[in-house]
Amino acid sequence: MLRPFEIHEPATVTAASRLLAYYGDEAAVYAGGTELLPVMKEGLAHYPHLVNIKTIAGLESIAFHQGILRIGALATHRQIERSPVVRERLPLLGQVACGVANLRVRIAGTLGGNLCFAEPHSDPAAVLVASGATLVLARDAEERRVSAEAFFTGILQTVRLPDEILTGVEVPDPGPGVGAAYHRFALHERPIAGVAAVLAVHEGIITRACLVVGSVGPIPARIAEAEAGLIGQAPAGSVLSAAAEAAGRHADVLEDLYGSVDYKRHIVAVMARRALKEAAARGHVEAT
Ligand SMILES: Cc1cc2nc3c(=O)[nH]c(=O)nc-3n(C[C@H](O)[C@H](O)[C@H](O)COP(=O)(O)OP(=O)(O)OC[C@H]3O[C@@H](n4cnc5c(N)ncnc54)[C@H](O)[C@@H]3O)c2cc1C
Repeated sequence: MLRPFEIHEPATVTAASRLLAYYGDEAAVYAGGTELLPVMKEGLAHYPHLVNIKTIAGLESIAFHQGILRIGALATHRQIERSPVVRERLPLLGQVACGVANLRVRIAGTLGGNLCFAEPHSDPAAVLVASGATLVLARDAEERRVSAEAFFTGILQTVRLPDEILTGVEVPDPGPGVGAAYHRFALHERPIAGVAAVLAVHEGIITRACLVVGSVGPIPARIAEAEAGLIGQAPAGSVLSAAAEAAGRHADVLEDLYGSVDYKRHIVAVMARRALKEAAARGHVEAT
């Protein structure tokens, strides 16, 4: 049962951050509430003060400016899925948003809530790490930027300070010759494994590779061993398969109700092979 709480409705990010600082452990940011409210209903956490950030204008906006796609933290998965700007500038993220959860969660759930909750079974987290995204955090009137790669520190843990608000995510334009893909495996709504691949292909050679495995371990993580095997190589099937196998071997995998470590390593290798193949093909098309 949901215990009583007070809702605060700040008009600015600074006011929201000050409320969080003032109430300390007794307060939490409230965005779509799709993670927060079930946790409170189950009695796993209780916050007598919820700071509703949906009253802050502009935090849901999505725009492309000077080579950067900026997605406001309050943009819902549904808005991302339907955004013409995302479709033009980072179509992969739109496709990924489309596969998140179900329509009810996608309409209410925000990108910021997904990232700040840091539940390991996240689709956008892996894609944003692979895309070199930066998260913008605001505290009082100050702002700082943290790479998506450095943001997650453990299960339900991030570098966000208790009185910081995530205001948005910035993704650099990948440029020509860069292909990106994401493949996930799910038995229910949330993924049990997801692999994002970004490959830059120049004159038939892979010049940059980013392979991120998500949902199987505590945080979405790049697999350096797999990436090293790709750089300087032509994107031949054998090269991509070897990198995919390396991803399965080196991923940080936790056993849970959805599968053993060995099973998940196998799934990661399969998802990685598919993602790399698709990214290489897209990189080739971009380059021509
Ligand atoms: C049934 C179900 C299925 C799901 N399936 C998937 C799936 O397939 N793939 C996937 O990736 N995800 C999945 N999710 C997770 C879903 O993406 C998140 O629930 C949603 O995005 C959370 O956003 P929210 O706005 O509702 O967050 P809230 O519940 O409002 O907040 C979540 C947490 O983040 C904090 N927070 C929120 N916004 C901010 C901010 N801007 N700054 C600082 N802190 C903030 C809150 O204080 C809270 O701790 C699923 C969830 C459900 C319930």
